[in-house]
Amino acid sequence: MDQGIRSLLDYLNSAPTAYHAVSETEKKLKAAGYSILDESVTWNLKPCSGYYVIRNGSSLIAFHTGVNLETPGCFRIVTAHTDSPTFRLKEGMLNEKNGMLTLGVEVMGGPIFSTWLDRDLAVAGRILIRKKDGIETVLYKNSERKVLIPNPPIHLNRTVNKGFEYNAQNHLKCIVKSIQKSSDSTGKSKNSKENIESFYDLIASDLKISSRDILDADLILYDTQEAALTSWEDEFFSSGRIDNLAMCHASIQALLAVQNQTGITVAALFDNEETGSKTPQGADSSFLEQVLERIILSRGGSREGFMAVCASSFIVSADAAHAIHPNFSDLYDEDFTPELNKGPAIKKNAGWNYASTGETASLFKLICEKADVPYQLFINRSDSPTGKTLGPLSAARLGIPAVDVGNPLWSMHSIRETGGVKDHNFMIKAFETHYRVN
Ligand SMILES: [Zn+2]
Repeated sequence: MDQGIRSLLDYLNSAPTAYHAVSETEKKLKAAGYSILDESVTWNLKPCSGYYVIRNGSSLIAFHTGVNLETPGCFRIVTAHTDSPTFRLKEGMLNEKNGMLTLGVEVMGGPIFSTWLDRDLAVAGRILIRKKDGIETVLYKNSERKVLIPNPPIHLNRTVNKGFEYNAQNHLKCIVKSIQKSSDSTGKSKNSKENIESFYDLIASDLKISSRDILDADLILYDTQEAALTSWEDEFFSSGRIDNLAMCHASIQALLAVQNQTGITVAALFDNEETGSKTPQGADSSFLEQVLERIILSRGGSREGFMAVCASSFIVSADAAHAIHPNFSDLYDEDFTPELNKGPAIKKNAGWNYASTGETASLFKLICEKADVPYQLFINRSDSPTGKTLGPLSAARLGIPAVDVGNPLWSMHSIRETGGVKDHNFMIKAFETHYRVN
């Protein structure tokens, strides 16, 4: 299998949550000699060096200072997001119902509900553990410990194939396990929670710690089916979270491949895109702006100098695009919908839900031509609203022109999405060319 795709599939498999995506990204950066920066101390950056900053354990900004740190000509930025639509556990509260222990969930982002039923799901996230000297954060993921959300049988839900509206409160509780029966002192069988007061008891036993030491947790559901190539001739790959871990992976691969430029190269991976980006670690926060300004200030530069660098900079906002679907082609504007494996799509929207302008789209077309990468266009049907991306948020906060691009996918926000193998390598090449500023 192609190295770039093997690396992407491994990344997808190892990152069921934004926390894991950041941790896996950090491993790549560390292996390439990048150093972590603490936001709470003064930075003393060196030229020709790689650094990264993490917020909330779920967003990460990595950059290479290049040869000209005193007076860099520009920032060359790629943005992507680490989160994907899923279901978040409602704390560790277990419910007993009809002999089963179940967990309530909240909807996070916009998943296609039906795709999450009758699958081998598992739980992943971060656990906050009490320690003598404070709180320890541990990442949790165990594909062997499955949970599930079964459908009712069609015999009791006859119209399900005409479309069924799942109620997130009532229908999507996930089943953890059956309640084990025990006998009381009179010999009568009775239901008991087997001393399981909370789901955290099960997690604690997995982690071999006391559940009393679990202070809190951020846990979500994920599909245990691994990412894989698909179609008769393996032209495509399918996995959960391709939106938008594929672009996180591509941006980091490109950042690590291109170093020592005259500009500063940046990959900004934000959490919370699927829920509006308005968090301290989201794209609609101070995170990117502060990191970029501190790069300039760290070598005695001024705020005015920072603004001048911003004025010559460029953002490529990279998020998944819709590929034309042969069974549903009437849902798309067929003149402006990309196909799988025909290259990155440039996304445009008259309501500015995408940041692309004629000027920034032209710049990206030139990047693709230079990289020998084909490109396509995506514009939504004129009678239907389009999705949103990080592009307009970062561009507006920083005053840096941006283009919205993305690789075409089928089934966006399904538990299992499908993308084109060739497109991933095309996008890495395009990002590398964007980062080359000599
Ligand atoms: Zn996305």
